Amino acid sequence: MKLVTRAEWGARPPKQSWTYVASTQGVKVHYEGDPVPADLVSHHEWCAGRVRDIQAAHMADTSQGWIDIAYNCVVCPHAYVFEGRGLHHETGANGNQPLNVAHYAVCGMVGNSGLTQPTNDMLNGIRDAIEWLQQQGGAGPEIKGHRDGYPTDCPGDPLYAWVQRGAPRPGGGSRGGSAGGSAAPPWPGEYLRLQDPLLNDANVRDWQQRMADRGWPITVDGWYGSESRSICEQFQQDSTAHGWPLTVDGIVGEQTWNATWQRPVS
Ligand SMILES: [Zn+2]
Ligand SMILES: [Zn+2]
Repeated sequence: MKLVTRAEWGARPPKQSWTYVASTQGVKVHYEGDPVPADLVSHHEWCAGRVRDIQAAHMADTSQGWIDIAYNCVVCPHAYVFEGRGLHHETGANGNQPLNVAHYAVCGMVGNSGLTQPTNDMLNGIRDAIEWLQQQGGAGPEIKGHRDGYPTDCPGDPLYAWVQRGAPRPGGGSRGGSAGGSAAPPWPGEYLRLQDPLLNDANVRDWQQRMADRGWPITVDGWYGSESRSICEQFQQDSTAHGWPLTVDGIVGEQTWNATWQRPVS
């Protein structure tokens, strides 16, 4: 599973503590409802910003009184699972409190115009999120749509048809659960750091691109400036907090380079 943690996508903290849930009957699938740009499928670099926008919109919605992004996870067209409220926290998305206690909520990044059809990668990502919530969050076997039990179009007809078929993985295969990240390119032997910055350094650019793919708000320009150093430090702290200890020094040495590609994602 390609999990993008809250720190990686730049989540704001919740307004107040989430409500703990030990277990649920299962998961309800949602969509954004609003227009989603059709060319999002070829622009993963937009996805983390979209999740930040969803969180900001939810937290600004005074009619709902949401303390945070309402979903437990948001899944983009490229199979990345963005951590929302995450495991063991009550969702705010299912319509009312009894419905929120009964099921977790996973949102696919499709809308009611533009991008309306989920990609196979998105379906695999939603399936990854559901299995993560089942295996580590106490979710039961039910997979339903937001419209089950609540009057709404959500999650849209294409996603709902997939839910009604039992939410199968495209092609019927399994992705093998919590597989790790990508194979790392060889360590270039060059320490990437804020020192004698080289414009358009190819190794810096490769590292920045990978960090952007992981959801970090980083500029991919081949220049290791203060932004890259800050994000490197945040990645090192976040990795350490997720069981992949790294020295927090803002320098991309061999261990940080490898973790950028290989760090297990859940
Ligand atoms: Zn919904
Ligand atoms: Zn994406």
